[in-house]
Amino acid sequence: MRRFDCPSCGHEVFFANTACLSCGTALVYAPGRGFLPSTDGDGFCANREAIGCNWAGESPDGLCLSCQHTLIVPDLTVAGNAERWARLEAAKRPVIRALHHLRLPLTDAQGQPAPVFELKGDPLASDAPKVMTGHDNGTITLNIAEADDAERAAIRQSLGEPYRTLTGHFRHEVAHHYWQVLTGGEPARLDALRAVFGDERQDYAAALEAHYRDGPPPDWSQHFISAYASSHPWEDFAETWAHVMHLLDGLETARAFRLVPGDLPLDLADLAALPMARLAEAWAALSVALNAVNQAMGHETFYPFVLTPPVVAKMEAVRQMIQRA
Ligand SMILES: [Zn+2]
Ligand SMILES: [Zn+2]
Ligand SMILES: [Zn+2]
Repeated sequence: MRRFDCPSCGHEVFFANTACLSCGTALVYAPGRGFLPSTDGDGFCANREAIGCNWAGESPDGLCLSCQHTLIVPDLTVAGNAERWARLEAAKRPVIRALHHLRLPLTDAQGQPAPVFELKGDPLASDAPKVMTGHDNGTITLNIAEADDAERAAIRQSLGEPYRTLTGHFRHEVAHHYWQVLTGGEPARLDALRAVFGDERQDYAAALEAHYRDGPPPDWSQHFISAYASSHPWEDFAETWAHVMHLLDGLETARAFRLVPGDLPLDLADLAALPMARLAEAWAALSVALNAVNQAMGHETFYPFVLTPPVVAKMEAVRQMIQRA
């Protein structure tokens, strides 16, 4: 994320702010243009009141570029769901911004928003099937329980994951969508991905079952960014794609605050034009420092991952795929 100034007084404002904390001016963010002066609610996203969305309304029904992608919102008659929805959308907006800056397609062949999101809570009846977070042909479902910090921490512990965030979920699930969209089912493009991630035609359900039953291979960290990535080539791709997005957004932020060398470009899309080896080098130096700072503060590890050469090579393949798109 870059840094922003209030269009009225020039004071620093942050990406999620709905008003300048210095002069009180109402803020509206337009993707690609930054914060614009706003007058009396003109141009606000229709969800501004409900969830504090600070983006500009664009669609005929007044929704912003990010909110347009949400087809199903949680049942707002359930206590706490308005807050869960707001937290989920606040995590989704930087992800949509990054996709937009990287010029990845955000509409389908009919010009409709794609991918789309369904933010659903588990049904009240205990014997009803639970909502599974996942991707199916351009539709991404998220269980809104993930928006509760305690719930998410419990899942993270039970799965033995070092890192589990809402932003991470969005980046992972959109990866499955872009695998489909950017290969278009074309054999040459699929073969190129198979050479890097393995053959995705192996039985997906059986692979996941084996992963949860037997655990990852003992040497998984030499070849995969996460244990889950070792479960199936699709998951390896999604975990790697999500990681490329973490690194690009993290480096853009660090660059804006002068925490990485000044010869790195300021903009996300310009960063994505650099070889992954260069990005990973800057990121590794920064993450060692930030891990130490977090430890000094008694926080959890900032960056609990290791970027081995095979993992960087996979990230480079994803970066090139994004560049070509
Ligand atoms: Zn101001
Ligand atoms: Zn919005
Ligand atoms: Zn997945």
